[in-house]
Amino acid sequence: MFLEVHQCLRQPALPPSPCAGSTPSIPPAGTEPALSARRRARLRPAEDLKFEPYWWRERDRSPPPEPDLPERVDVAIVGGGYTGLSAALTLARAGASVVVFDAEDPGDGASSRNGGMFGDRLKPGYGGLARRFGEARAVAMLDEASASVDFIERLVIDNEIACDFARMGRFYPAVTRAHYESMAASLEAEKAARPVQAEMVPADEQSQFIGSRFYAGGRLHHDTGGLHPAKFHDGLLAAARGAGALIAGRTAVLGLEETDSAMVLETSLGFITAETVLICTNGYTGPLTPEHQARVVPVTSAIVATDELDPDLVRRLIPGGRMIADSFNLLNYYRPSPDGRRILLGSRPGVGVGGGRKLADHLGRRLGEIFPELDGVSLTHCWWGKVAFSFDGLPKIGLEGRIGHAMCYAGSGVAMSNWMGHKLAQKALGDLAGRSAFDDVEFPERFFYGGRPWFLGPAMAWYGFRDSLSRLRHGR
Ligand SMILES: Cc1cc2nc3c(=O)[nH]c(=O)nc-3n(C[C@H](O)[C@H](O)[C@H](O)COP(=O)(O)OP(=O)(O)OC[C@H]3O[C@@H](n4cnc5c(N)ncnc54)[C@H](O)[C@@H]3O)c2cc1C
Repeated sequence: MFLEVHQCLRQPALPPSPCAGSTPSIPPAGTEPALSARRRARLRPAEDLKFEPYWWRERDRSPPPEPDLPERVDVAIVGGGYTGLSAALTLARAGASVVVFDAEDPGDGASSRNGGMFGDRLKPGYGGLARRFGEARAVAMLDEASASVDFIERLVIDNEIACDFARMGRFYPAVTRAHYESMAASLEAEKAARPVQAEMVPADEQSQFIGSRFYAGGRLHHDTGGLHPAKFHDGLLAAARGAGALIAGRTAVLGLEETDSAMVLETSLGFITAETVLICTNGYTGPLTPEHQARVVPVTSAIVATDELDPDLVRRLIPGGRMIADSFNLLNYYRPSPDGRRILLGSRPGVGVGGGRKLADHLGRRLGEIFPELDGVSLTHCWWGKVAFSFDGLPKIGLEGRIGHAMCYAGSGVAMSNWMGHKLAQKALGDLAGRSAFDDVEFPERFFYGGRPWFLGPAMAWYGFRDSLSRLRHGR
């Protein structure tokens, strides 16, 4: 039974459908526009552009019921995204009393706004990890990243979460030949150390994976995939609630104090005492825990969704419906919507881009650069949220005394946040299974940083400049 569901999940399903209204004419297959046309191509924000996630279209936005807070719980969790809910589910299923607080509606952080692309990569890559930690620990860390993908699949299956989960794979196209060579070298090194379900795809074969000649080949990962992030969050929330966790949405935790025997939390609903507090605030970490705020760098990531397209066009541009993330410093990540009728593209907005319609316009140009066929298509949704980075690019987890934390997934948190939340819960339960290869890794701080990332502007400008050089050198 499990195998059948598993096989089925691996098949991307983009349904055939009649042509939708605002679709531009489709050029014949293989027609490649001139470079100037590629540079001019852009998608434009619709008149009624919506500044909220495409994923929220069917979401119930009515205020949640105000919960009756007990005086005391075993574990209080701050943050109702994937990390907090995954922790709550594990704790509640083990019989602990749990309350999850979120200052907004749970999920309003990154967990219902993301691209829905779950992966098994770690920011430093195998080479960087092996240099820093040695080969065995690097392998253990990457094995955990792979385990996080299996874990999220189990969450979906065991809790019957209808969220368009599929392991259709991810293609990482290289912007330049040099990026391609570097990807190939790092894959070869990693394959020598551990099995990796991935292969290099040279430029003359990439049309099986992407309907664009913008790239110089790429790296294909088979085991990863995509889901509908808000539906997944809703399902996880229902599972945690069903297991007995109390969910207090629109309830900020304002203060934390440790007494001899417990933690006292001041919330916007009143005071509550907990044996243990888990901080699961990721990119929204604030002054409640200055020790985390001073170590977490929040970075804005933004996404646009196109108007409905002809599903045949979407299939031709992104054959196999895979997730895609390219090798720009300010990377483009994009995918078809689960119904195969739209393309969603996200990126880290660079310096001087602006917000609102200007941001949508900027992302529309990026999409037009990759797929000139989409010139003139409208963008219907544009939204953004915060991703958390640590200074060494690694996820962070720890439980010291009565306070635990799990955060900093560097834009790869769809799978990792669930895994880390689960591990953190096991730690809080005193379960040795909560051990992680990421235990006891330093959570670095910098003397020049206290939680306000003033340096992001210059850093983004530098990355944007290097990306422009890549474009120029390679005739893009
Ligand atoms: C636009 C965008 C696109 C992304 N795309 C991808 C992707 O395709 N693939 C991928 O792997 N990752 C992606 N990510 C990252 C991924 O979404 C996150 O890593 C993941 O959702 C983190 O989950 P979390 O539960 O740790 O944090 P969040 O979901 O951000 O939740 C943290 C919560 O803490 C709450 N909070 C903070 N302080 C308090 C307080 N004092 N009291 C109460 N509540 C508080 C906030 O309200 C917030 O809801 C993306 C992120 C963004 C923003």
